[in-house]
Amino acid sequence: MHAPGDVRTEELDMPVVVEPTDAIIRVTATCICGSDLWPYRGIEKLNGPQRMGHEYIGVVESVGEAVALVKPGDHVVGSFVASDNTCEICRAGYQSRCVHQVMMGAVGTQAQYARIPLADGTLVVTPGEPPADLVPSLLAASDVLGTGWFAAVAAEAGPGKTVAVVGDGAVGLLGVLAAAQLGAERIIVMSRHADRQALARRFGATDIVEERGDEGVKKIKELTDGLGAHSTIEAVGTQESMDQAIRATRAGGHVGFVGVSHDVSIDGLELFFSSVHLHGGPAPVRRFLPDLIRLIWDREIDPGAVFDLTLPIDEAAEGYRAMDERRATKVLLTTD
Ligand SMILES: [Zn+2]
Repeated sequence: MHAPGDVRTEELDMPVVVEPTDAIIRVTATCICGSDLWPYRGIEKLNGPQRMGHEYIGVVESVGEAVALVKPGDHVVGSFVASDNTCEICRAGYQSRCVHQVMMGAVGTQAQYARIPLADGTLVVTPGEPPADLVPSLLAASDVLGTGWFAAVAAEAGPGKTVAVVGDGAVGLLGVLAAAQLGAERIIVMSRHADRQALARRFGATDIVEERGDEGVKKIKELTDGLGAHSTIEAVGTQESMDQAIRATRAGGHVGFVGVSHDVSIDGLELFFSSVHLHGGPAPVRRFLPDLIRLIWDREIDPGAVFDLTLPIDEAAEGYRAMDERRATKVLLTTD
């Protein structure tokens, strides 16, 4: 990305092992994230031309001398944050805030090859070469599925719970899938787009609320005997979505917030009297990856359905335009 709205596919040097803990992978599929739209729209500052992308699946090409758990030829999925998976924070399940974390966006995985730092901690090997129809789902596990899953876990979605989902982008939709998998009784998704509503229902949503803001909150209260949801997933990151999430949650309930927060402030007194639990941040996708890969491999879940446009990486610029103009929910980029 050279500037807001200016994405180009360019020939760069082949990545090489720099640290002994690195692996080089041939990226077999990558994608464009909703969070890539923040700099695309000029909301997040760019410091000159920047490599893009943090979601990836691929095949290990070579490894540094300290890498022991992955080897050339392995098919792998990794998180959008590289982590050692051994420090105290990682062992507690918060690999996205590993003391040695490397944000993969700085590496840039919208590419044919990528250097993966901390390969042993970051990469999870799949049971074999993925069948073609599982590629989108495995790629989704790299971020949007893992993020939606964390949001549902942070919101304590589960049996007997009513879950509200604020945001009908890929993460919100996969938050619906996660809440359903975790056994939620009722899942209310806030959405105005017919195609996204349909996908939400396919993933397990039981109710749709089209109203936004205070009207949307009112509607969720009406659906929950005036109390609000037990669990709310916030998957946007704006002031409006955060306010909606907190206000739609009942006293004692939980908000799992995973939309990258932009200019959000929370009124202390309102939070005080809301009596809700707030838990969120960059999702520790690595914590969930082994389970998510198994669910996908066994065809128990189909998160790859969030991809509604596939383009060759040479046409990445069109992919960004399509997501920016909401012509696409999630764009998969092929690399061969
Ligand atoms: Zn760590």
